[in-house]
Order: sequence, then structure tokens, then C-alpha cells
Amino acid sequence: MQPASNPTVILGGGFAGLFTALHLSQQNYTHPIILIEQRDRFSFKPLLYELLSGELHSEQVYPRYKELLAGSSVNFVQDTVEFIDLDQRQVTLDSGKVFRYSHLVLALGSKTTYFNTPGAAEYAMPFTSGEQVIALRKHLRHRLHEAIQTDDSAKRRLLLTVAIIGAGPAGIELACTLADLLPIWYDELGGDAAEIRVFLVNRSREILKGDVNSHLRCTVQTALKNRVVPVDFLFDAAVSKIQADGIEYQKQDKTQILQAGTIVWTAGTAPNPLLMELAVPHNRGRLLVTPTLQIPEFPEVFAAGDCATDAENPQPPTAQVAYQQGKAIAVNLKRMREGKLTVPMPISMRGTLMKLGLNESVANLFNKVQIKGQPGHLIRQGTYLELLPNPAHNHKVTAEWLTDELFQRHRPVSHMQLGQTHWLSGAIALMAGLILASPLIWRAAQPIQFQQSLGWTGVPSLLNQLTPPPR
Ligand SMILES: Cc1cc2nc3c(=O)[nH]c(=O)nc-3n(C[C@H](O)[C@H](O)[C@H](O)COP(=O)(O)OP(=O)(O)OC[C@H]3O[C@@H](n4cnc5c(N)ncnc54)[C@H](O)[C@@H]3O)c2cc1C
Repeated sequence: MQPASNPTVILGGGFAGLFTALHLSQQNYTHPIILIEQRDRFSFKPLLYELLSGELHSEQVYPRYKELLAGSSVNFVQDTVEFIDLDQRQVTLDSGKVFRYSHLVLALGSKTTYFNTPGAAEYAMPFTSGEQVIALRKHLRHRLHEAIQTDDSAKRRLLLTVAIIGAGPAGIELACTLADLLPIWYDELGGDAAEIRVFLVNRSREILKGDVNSHLRCTVQTALKNRVVPVDFLFDAAVSKIQADGIEYQKQDKTQILQAGTIVWTAGTAPNPLLMELAVPHNRGRLLVTPTLQIPEFPEVFAAGDCATDAENPQPPTAQVAYQQGKAIAVNLKRMREGKLTVPMPISMRGTLMKLGLNESVANLFNKVQIKGQPGHLIRQGTYLELLPNPAHNHKVTAEWLTDELFQRHRPVSHMQLGQTHWLSGAIALMAGLILASPLIWRAAQPIQFQQSLGWTGVPSLLNQLTPPPR
């Protein structure tokens, strides 16, 4: 038996782990809290496309844990977890440090898997963290600079071709973003934007297969075609090899090659190997937990996010589930410390949101209403900006974003897609103004209905921060 004074240790500072830590701190949890994470910065994954495009800054979407946790009671340890001993109630880190715990939260997420595809780990770029996004941005910029300097048309074609492997939500959102963004970047260098090619490569014909967003397929297909350069589909293509200058794939029993100067891998995730070593039940690599997110044999251990699942009420591996679970765990940890029973907390799916290009998204409300285009974009941004951890951080980003929307301060899209005429910028600012004003009018007229209908989107509290609600 470990002394109760041992700390509560949280492994992994993603959505589940970081939000558990922040909620514990906010509810004045009186025991030491230690958050162990291998990286020094938190990646707000749903907004990584905005980090790539420059629509949001790195300190907004990819902030340092030290900054996020400043003023909280959470002790941040940057290190890699090497071994978890549930029987001895201790974890060993790469540095050799050993932490004993009274309570443990497993929030280690999942890993990228390349399905043993030769060359994939060497030549395909992953897209799951801020660090990887910054590397991709640098790589793409470099490719465009090389392309503008060459007179060799075959070489330029290769340099200007991007292959994105995987037509799940990340592959699609990235393809839409790049098909709008790269023409703008290349145009700024004096290149012919029409030469940019973005390929979406998928093993089957079906996009968004088995994903929570699968019902958005038609909207997504239209959006992929309507970008500044239309996204090319390479479907029924099983990638068999990746090289520095392209991919080899099997299609209709033939081996074919797509030459590409940039290859991005979004095709698969695998369970965190560290958790697979634990002698507790798993389901497809995710730890099986009770409705209260505890490991049945070890009730002092909680698990959440992409690395855990409740067999009776399985949830998709998404950020919106992970952060709600973080809050639920914090509540139950406090109850346990107070000698109370743990209770299941409801997890509500708030609809789905997808970025379908610069300033274009689809917000799918309750699987019934789809709000597309610029209004969808405003709902998506508002929802995620509301979620950014730490109120000071959140407020700063929200205010900056709204200023940009209204006054066009630093929008990369301004050059090509929207043209450079003042009247058009003015019309767009006016449209954004009208879109932003309508919730204010609704809130003033029917405050309760407004809160009930839009509460899940985060828009009411976002507005409350910016303008006081009417009395
Ligand atoms: C590009 C992209 C876009 C996405 N968009 C959306 C979206 O729009 N909406 C949505 O709901 N979801 C989205 N998701 C999914 C969502 O981000 C994940 O479901 C969510 O991050 C899961 O949270 P988590 O805390 O379980 O894991 P993670 O957020 O992956 O966090 C796990 C943490 O554990 C750390 N870690 C791992 N191993 C170790 C170790 N051995 N030692 C120390 N630390 C370790 C990792 O560094 C990481 O910080 C997106 C994912 C990606 C990649």
C-alpha cells in the first residue's frame, strides 16, 4: 500500500492529460499533481492546419506547457515514460527518475503507424504535432523556392506535387488547406499557381471510412473539387513503397508511380506500445475502462482519450471526447480524495467540425444541420478557440482572431482568392460583421433559447467574454 500523500501522476499532456491537470488545479485539489510529458509544447491538433497556413500563430496553437501551467498547482516534468508498474504504483522515466503515485492517469494517446510500408518512416512526413507541422511548412516553402528557380519543367512538376496519403479527416482537411494555400505562396514568389498539384491517395474508393464525419462525404467531395486548385483523387491505390521523390502503389494489379516532392502520411494510428505491455484488458489496443474511466483491477488508475475505451459506451478517438474525459477524471479524483464514490460523467458529442480550406469549414450540428463555408468557419474557429486551455490564453487568441476576421490584418488568402480590391475586402468584412452580429441579436431577443441551442458550440461564452450579456 502506497502512502496517500504520494502525488497524483498524469502521463501524457494531450487533451485528456492536460485538461485533467488543469481541472484538478482549478478545483483546488489539495494533493500534489505531476504532469509528465515528453514534449515541451502542447499541440492543439484540430487547429494544426491554421498553424501551417499562418492563420494562427505558434504561441496560440502550439504553446509551451510552462506558459499554459503558469499559476496552476501542476508540476510539469518534461521526460519520456519508459515503464509503468501498476503493482508497485510507480513509473520510470527515460532520465532514470522514478515517480511513485497514489493515483495515476494514463493519457498517452496513440502513435502514427506506417503499416511497415518500406520508406514511409524515412520519406513521408507525419502530421500530428506542432513540431511536425513547422517542419512541413519549412519543407513546402523550400520546395516552392526550388521550383521557381528551375527551368526544367519535369523537375518543377515534381517539386510542385504533394501526395497526401490517407483520406480520413486529417488527410482531407490538410488537402483542402494546401490546395488553397500553396497557390497563394507560389503566386507570391511569382510562380504560376495552376502548376500546383495536390493528390489525395487512398486505399479504398470511400473517403472518411468508419469516421464520425462519414455523413459529410458529399460536402467534403464538393469542397475538395472547389479549392483554388482542385484536389486530385488517387483512390483504390495501395501504397507499397515510398521514396524521396514519390510513391509506388498498386492499382488494379499494376504497380504505378506518382512522382511527388512532398509526401505526407495521415493514414494510420496504432496503440501506444507502453500501454500494450500492461497486463490489463485491451480492446483493439485501447485500455478497457469502466464508465468512470477507471481500470477495473486498479481503481486508483484512470485512463482516457485515444488510449482508452469503455466497452459499454465507446467513444470515437477525438479531442472533444478526450478533454471532457479529462474534466470527468478530475471530478472523480477529487471525490476519491474526499472518500466519496466515483460517478460516471456524461460525454456529449457536440457535433462535428471540419476545415475544408482557408476560411471554409463545415459545422455539422447534431447530425442534422450542416453550416458550410464562411459561417461554418466562424463556428469552427469559435468553438476551438473557446477550448484553448487557460483563460488568459484563450481570451487573447479569441480577441486576435476576431480582429483579423473583421479587419483583414494578416490573412494569407487576401492576395489571390479574394482579389485585392477594397470593395471586396469591405464586403467580406461586412459579411463577417453581419454573421457575428446575428448571434448578438438572437442572444438579446431570446437569451435562454440562445444558450440552450448554441451552448455546445462555445459561441455563447465566447460572446460573453467579448461583450457583456444584456440584463
Ligand atoms: C491533424 C489532426 C487533426 C485532428 N482534428 C481533430 C478535430 O478536428 N476534432 C477532434 O475532436 N479531434 C481531432 N483530432 C484527434 C484528437 O487530436 C485526438 O483524439 C486527441 O488529441 C486525443 O487526445 P489524447 O489526450 O488522448 O492524446 P494526445 O493528444 O495524442 O496526447 C498524448 C500525449 O502523450 C504524450 N506521450 C506519448 N507517449 C509518451 C511517453 N512515453 N512519455 C511521455 N509522454 C508521452 C504525447 O507527446 C502527447 O502529448 C485530430 C488529430 C490530428 C492528428
